[in-house]
Amino acid sequence: MMRAILGGTFDPIHWGHLNAASSVCEQIQSDHLVLLPSAQPPHRSYPGATAEQRFAMATLAASDIPNCTADNWELLQSRKSYTQLTLEQFHQRWPQDTLVFIVGEDAFAGLESWYKWEHLLDHAHLVVMRRPHSHNVFSETLQQWLANVQTKQPEQLHQHASGCVYLAETPAFDISATAIRNAIQTEQSWTHYVPNSVANYIQTHQLYR
Ligand code: ATP
Repeated sequence: MMRAILGGTFDPIHWGHLNAASSVCEQIQSDHLVLLPSAQPPHRSYPGATAEQRFAMATLAASDIPNCTADNWELLQSRKSYTQLTLEQFHQRWPQDTLVFIVGEDAFAGLESWYKWEHLLDHAHLVVMRRPHSHNVFSETLQQWLANVQTKQPEQLHQHASGCVYLAETPAFDISATAIRNAIQTEQSWTHYVPNSVANYIQTHQLYR
């Protein structure tokens, strides 16, 4: 089966993540979506949620979506987690499955700074989703790399076990976790940016105040 994986800080998870990832899953006909909260750099200065809270919110969001689960693998690691190593581990965990790692185009533009980035496709495909306001320029190196690995046909992702990049035409959802945290702090409306279960969790735990 094909498993799509969306990694992110998810502080908090919101409809931008969920709608864009669902649209990707539909386009590439993946069978399952994994929401993968990443360990957070300790120096982030805003009042963020803990790893447990971010995982709890991802789990609540996943329970509203068919064929979707949250996975706390990266949060349980004592060392810093790198996507390349996580994909290697997931490949061992699900050797029969085709893995697709989903990234927003802002994250994709910075791919060259990722640990062993040229090996990201060893065990997975990569699908890039659109992000409003991210006027990203892909570097020369990234463009050259992309030219060798890009596929314009999502069906190709089912024909190869790994190694392809697909730029998905996802609708633009103008939502970011930063905007949600700011809205909460400044008492603007924000609950419509997240699933109800997540909004209730944020309110109950008084997050981002
Ligand atoms: P922050 O505002 O704290 O940076 P964020 O909303 O960008 O958070 P992350 O959890 O860092 O969210 O993002 C996880 C992944 O989802 C990244 O690949 C990011 O590019 C992508 N993403 C986040 N929001 C959107 C959106 N509205 N549309 C498409 N992709 C998104």
